[in-house]
Amino acid sequence: MPEKKSVVIHWFRRDLRLADNAALFHALSQHEQVLPLFIFDSNILDALENKKDARVSFIHRVLQKMHAELLQQGSGILIRYGTPEDVFTALLQEFSVAAVYTNRDYEPYAIERDAAIGDLLRTRQIPLHTFKDHVILEPHEVLKADGTPYTVYTPYSKAWKNVYSEDDTKPFHSEKWTARFLKYTAEKFPTLNDIGFKPTDIPLPDVFVDEHIIKQYHLTRDIPSIAGTTRISVHLRFGTLSIRKYMRIALQWNEKYANELIWREFYQMILWHFPHVVGNAFRRAYDQIRWRNNEKEFALWCAGKTGFPLVDAGIRELLATGYMHNRVRMVVAGFLTKDLLIDWRWGEAFFAEHLLDFELASNNGGWQWAAGTGVDAAPYFRIFNPAEQAKKFDPEGKYIRKWIPEFDTLDYPQPMLDHSFARKRCLETYAAIKQ
Ligand code: FAD
Repeated sequence: MPEKKSVVIHWFRRDLRLADNAALFHALSQHEQVLPLFIFDSNILDALENKKDARVSFIHRVLQKMHAELLQQGSGILIRYGTPEDVFTALLQEFSVAAVYTNRDYEPYAIERDAAIGDLLRTRQIPLHTFKDHVILEPHEVLKADGTPYTVYTPYSKAWKNVYSEDDTKPFHSEKWTARFLKYTAEKFPTLNDIGFKPTDIPLPDVFVDEHIIKQYHLTRDIPSIAGTTRISVHLRFGTLSIRKYMRIALQWNEKYANELIWREFYQMILWHFPHVVGNAFRRAYDQIRWRNNEKEFALWCAGKTGFPLVDAGIRELLATGYMHNRVRMVVAGFLTKDLLIDWRWGEAFFAEHLLDFELASNNGGWQWAAGTGVDAAPYFRIFNPAEQAKKFDPEGKYIRKWIPEFDTLDYPQPMLDHSFARKRCLETYAAIKQ
């Protein structure tokens, strides 16, 4: 038997980049022979019904680029398919593993997965070293004076800014150490087909942010017809760009933008401390809402055919690109939950299926905010009027016409209901809840 290669593994998950990567920096700066690993996790992939899922294509493309870069140095990313437990069990047969490095992930599935892998490694006396990389401040770092978590954004963000120090956004220059990756004859890089998927029809975004937008962000962020937001969400989701770099810039250039990035950390924190938000209202009383859940109406919403142009344009943008502007997400989600009285979990699942930037924490937070069931939620009597929202944020109808080509023709449907009637019905339904 040839002797097993002695390696240290860096396990990539939501940190798909070689530069400014915390765990990767620690692995490479402390060890020779670092083996980069990515697992196409069958637990996650098997649950995806759409075999052209854009996220799988995006991850595949990013990994291919990273792999090509490493091949030039005689290395490469080891790609495996299967459950993480099976993959690690096999790797421990193939290699003599001295340690595993990875960046922390705060979602319930990830916490369970990492605990299981930690246990598996521990039985062989192999340490699992985990690092903060996905956020600037972790859920336990920003707490009230009595040690309990915040549930309202504004005091949380103030406390966040008090706890924050410049050290928190210093880069980890992992890219300077890439010569330390294990040199080996890399296996053939799997195709999408090899893992049971097909290329998406959606145009995938490049790993790029136009930093000029950040300077003007407070002026442009609410106008869906222009490139007024940074489109960084997908990169923060998959770690293709470093949150440290953009939070640093945000805090220097535009407080409004920094506040949005802090919203992201707020929802990560909420999910960590209150995991019941997955599948339940944060405010338990709101689980009593008597949703109408009319399936025909849901189908019209999902198809972008409600006759409310801003709602329909948003859904169509989502279906065509995997993205929807934030202002429009709020209107679309408000319309489903309040005008149609359809359970926010139906909308949450639809977004989860189609958003390229889908994050459990932000998506759940956004939906519960819109439905008025969550932390710091819009009070239930604040009901968006979709026509007024369109007038205010898309006054010339540019965004609407971009996504609804038949808008000015008879093919475009009449509104599916009367908003003032729906508003009244919603108020009555919410008022019936016993607090
Ligand atoms: P920018 O306006 O440029 O903002 C920069 C970054 O700040 C965003 O990328 C995001 O990381 C953060 N941010 C901004 N607004 C929010 C917010 N309200 N909550 C949390 N973080 C925020 N965002 C996701 O990343 N994934 C989701 O699955 C998701 N689902 C949502 C569902 C609903 C119903 C709503 C109302 C919002 C949701 N958001 C989600 C938040 C927000 O809409 C997106 O982050 C934003 O539209 C992404 O575009 P951008 O990167 O150009 O944002």
